[in-house]
Amino acid sequence: MKFQPIASHFINGEYVEDTAGEHIDVIYPATGEVIARLHSATPAIIDQALNAAKAAQAEWAAMSGTERGRVLRRAADIMRERNRELSILETHDTGKPLQETLVADATSGADALEYFGGLAGSLTGEHIPLGGGDFVYTIREALGVCVGIGAWNYPTQIACWKGAPALTCGNTMVFKPSETTPLSALKVAEILIDAGAPKGVYNVVQGYGNVGASLITDDRVAKVSLTGSVPTGRKVYAAAADGMKHVTMELGGKSPMIVFDDANIENAVSGAILGNFYSSGQVCSNGTRVFVQKGIKEAFLTRLSERLATAKIGDPLNEDVNFGPMVSENQMNIVLGYIAKGKDEGARLVHGGEPIDGDGFYLHPTVFADVTDDMAIAREEIFGPVMSVLDFDAEEEVMTRANNTEFGLAAGVFTNDLTRAHRIVAGFEAGTCYINTYNLAPVEAPFGGSKMSGVGRENSKLAINHFSEMKTVYVSMNDVEAPY
Ligand code: NDP
Repeated sequence: MKFQPIASHFINGEYVEDTAGEHIDVIYPATGEVIARLHSATPAIIDQALNAAKAAQAEWAAMSGTERGRVLRRAADIMRERNRELSILETHDTGKPLQETLVADATSGADALEYFGGLAGSLTGEHIPLGGGDFVYTIREALGVCVGIGAWNYPTQIACWKGAPALTCGNTMVFKPSETTPLSALKVAEILIDAGAPKGVYNVVQGYGNVGASLITDDRVAKVSLTGSVPTGRKVYAAAADGMKHVTMELGGKSPMIVFDDANIENAVSGAILGNFYSSGQVCSNGTRVFVQKGIKEAFLTRLSERLATAKIGDPLNEDVNFGPMVSENQMNIVLGYIAKGKDEGARLVHGGEPIDGDGFYLHPTVFADVTDDMAIAREEIFGPVMSVLDFDAEEEVMTRANNTEFGLAAGVFTNDLTRAHRIVAGFEAGTCYINTYNLAPVEAPFGGSKMSGVGRENSKLAINHFSEMKTVYVSMNDVEAPY
C-alpha cells in the first residue's frame, strides 16, 4: 500500500488503530488502485477521541492567544515546507491534478492556519459603560469540543478551514474526513503536533456517516461544522438542534453565472471554465447555470469549445495535466446519469458527454446548451464537470430565473456596465458573489451560503463568532437597590 498511514486515527497526539472497525479502502481515482486500507472508528475510538479533546480543551483555552497563534503559524510554515509531499498525497486521495493541488490545497490550509494564528492574540471582549459608574464587560470564550465533518473535494483545506478558527478561539477538535479521502487530515493532525500543539487539541477519526452521526449527538460536543450536501446538512442540523449545539453548515449549490452581451467574452469564458471544470467540477460554489445573453450565445459557445479542446486530460501526477478524474466510480456514475438526463430532456450537447476509456474515473468536460430552467441538469447539483448554458434576453428576467432555486451558495455576473454589475449583485440571493471573476475564496473573505446552501460563514473574522461565545459580566459600583 503506497500511502498506508501508521494507523487509521490520530488521537491525543498519536496514531491509534482499532481493527474491529469496518474496512475503508482508499482508491487512487486515476487508476482504481487501492493505496491504503483503513478502519472506521468503533465506539471505543470515538469515545477515546472525544475524551482526548475534552481533556485538552481547558489547558489549551488557558494559553494566551499569542501562544496559540504561534502554534498555528508554525503549522502553516510546516505545511508550506511540505507542500509538494502533501500535494502528491492529496492528488492520490482525490485524483485532482498535481498542478492544482500544489497551489490550492495545503497552501489554502496553510493560509487559514496563518490567518487565524495571526488573529489569535487580538481576540477580546468589550467594555460597555453604563450609567452611574456601573459597567459591563464581555469575555470571549471558547465553545469547547468542536466536531468537524468534511466532504471529499478539498480534504486538506476543509480540515484546516474548520480546525484553524476552532483552535484559535481555544476550542479543541475531533475531525472526521469523508471516508473517500481520509488521508490528508491525518497529516494536518501530525503537523499541528510537530508545530507544538498540545496532545488532544486536534484529533482525527475515520468513518462513514454513522461515525459523524455519533459524534454530533455526544454530550461532550459543543459545536458541529459540516461541509457536505444539503440532505446530510439537514440531518446533521437536526441532530445538533436536539442538544442545542452551535452549527456551521457549508452545503451544496447550483449557482448562477450571468454573462451580459457587453462582457469581455474571453474573461467570461475563463470564469465559466474555472467555475465548472476546476477539480473536475467537484466544487460546491461552481457556477453551473451559465446564463448567456442571446446576442453573444453562439460566440460564447464557440470560444468555450475551442478552449476546452485544449484541456490536458490525463495522469494527474503529470504537472502539465490540468483536468483529472472524478473522485470515485460512484461519483462518475452519478454524473453520467445527469448527462443521460440532459440528453433525454433535449439539451444540446456542445462538448464532451462521454467517459474516457481506461481504469480511472475520467469524464470529458461536458457542456450543454439550450438548457431550460425546468431540466434536471439546471435544477439539481451534479457535482461534476457538467456546465448548463441557458439563454436570456433581459436583465429583469434573468435575475428572477437566477434566484429561482433552493440553493444560495454563490453567484456571478460578467458585464462591463458598472451600475448593472452592482444592481445584479444586490439582487442575488447568494452568500458569495463575484463580479467579472469566479470561484475565488481567499481566507480574508467570508465564505458561505444562503437559503438551503448553509448557515454561518467560514474564513475571515466572521468565523471567530462561529467558534466562540460571549460571557456578559455586569459590574455594579453602587449599592444594590431592592424593593423590600
Ligand atoms: P455528503 O453530504 O455525502 O457527506 C459529507 C460528510 O458528512 C461526509 O464525511 C459524510 O460521511 C458525512 N455524513 C454523512 N451522513 C452523515 C450523518 N447522518 N451524520 C453526520 N455525518 C454524516 O457530501 P460529499 O462528501 O458527497 O460532498 C459533496 C457535497 O459537499 C456537495 O453537495 C457539495 O456541494 C458539498 N460541499 C460544500 C462546500 C461548501 O463549502 N459549501 C464545499 C465542498 C463540498 P460519508 O462520506 O461516510 O457519508
